[in-house]
Amino acid sequence: MNKISRRNFNSITVKGIGGAAILSATPFACALGANQDKKSLGIALVGLGSYSTYQLAPALQDTQHCHLAGIVTGTPEKEKIWADKYNISSKNIYNYKNFDEISNNPDIDAIYVVLPNSMHAEFCIRAAKAGKHVICEKPMAVSVEECDAIINACKEAGVKLGMGYRLQSEPYTQQVKRFVKEKTFGDINFVSADAAYRSGGNPDQWRLNKALSGGGALMNMGVYAIQSAIYGTGENPISVSAQEFSTRPEYFKETDETITAQFEFPSGAIGNISTSHNFNANAMYVSGTSGWFRLNPANNYGPLSGETSKGDVLKFPHESQQKLQMDDFAKHVLFDEPNIAPGEMGKRDMMIVEAIYESIAKGGQKIALDFEPEFGFGG
Ligand code: NAD
Repeated sequence: MNKISRRNFNSITVKGIGGAAILSATPFACALGANQDKKSLGIALVGLGSYSTYQLAPALQDTQHCHLAGIVTGTPEKEKIWADKYNISSKNIYNYKNFDEISNNPDIDAIYVVLPNSMHAEFCIRAAKAGKHVICEKPMAVSVEECDAIINACKEAGVKLGMGYRLQSEPYTQQVKRFVKEKTFGDINFVSADAAYRSGGNPDQWRLNKALSGGGALMNMGVYAIQSAIYGTGENPISVSAQEFSTRPEYFKETDETITAQFEFPSGAIGNISTSHNFNANAMYVSGTSGWFRLNPANNYGPLSGETSKGDVLKFPHESQQKLQMDDFAKHVLFDEPNIAPGEMGKRDMMIVEAIYESIAKGGQKIALDFEPEFGFGG
């Protein structure tokens, strides 16, 4: 079995989550120093597509600890529309070419990269080099190598790095983590997680273009299923075996349509995930030695819904997941609260994605994974 080396991964994790050790040793101590006086983090969104337009920008009108301070767009027509709608000063508007000048802009503390997947690494690294904190959308990049490059750039610049993993800040998901941690349903021995939607329409969309997406359903929705399997057990997997299915090859010319994968966890628990761009699925189920719980839906923008074998129906007030997520990151930067979705988590998930593709390429062979047990608990 192939073993993936994670030596760098572990040492970065330990220091990265604490943060202080890295920051004091770097030339860009300004990143934390400047923010200590601020009450609200100024965020610039890079890439004004559907997620920025319909989720992130509206959420940033309600956040307590950060606000929309700037935009970076490759589409000149969007500049005035966004400036008028969100009262953004022209000095806080950038394009992909002059983006690096953002380093001189004190209104912008953090850059949120919301571009097609293969552009994440370039813009996260440029943001870090500009001395700005970084939030990176999922999937973190299109390879583990790129994840390392992002993590290292942020480390060298002394800036914080967070993933756009909105569910990490979401109350139903946090209840799942509590169930697991407190062993409310005993020791977990099985998890299943499904994250999928049926894709149609424009065959030229970037998600179907491997150079821009890095992959298909697995890169897009599969990351949610991987995350569910991990916070559903509170463990990182020690092996994965995977299968790919294709029923519409004329539409999915370059990218995977449907993937299933099975995990083994250190405790002996097993997991089964599915992800697809061909069918709809949005659920997780966890079985323990003394009961079960499930979320359905488990990974849309909410409200989520859940129930347990004790007859409980989970009920939490609904708030924008993106608002909660961006405020959590801002609290990490401003008040040194824990980074609940660090870059290392994005890298871990990319390592699993690569192992899944490797298993498929080897006809479903079991691929060993070797993560430090401390890292990623509940994540
Ligand atoms: P989108 O297609 O709606 O927007 C993409 C943006 O990138 C557009 O503004 C487009 O102009 C710009 N762009 C720049 N260069 C481009 C190129 N070469 N080809 C295509 N577009 C280009 O995509 P989206 O749904 O907003 O997704 C953007 C990122 O956000 C992706 O990484 C995606 O995985 C992530 N996302 C995350 C969530 C979540 O729930 N966390 C939800 C949706 C999307």
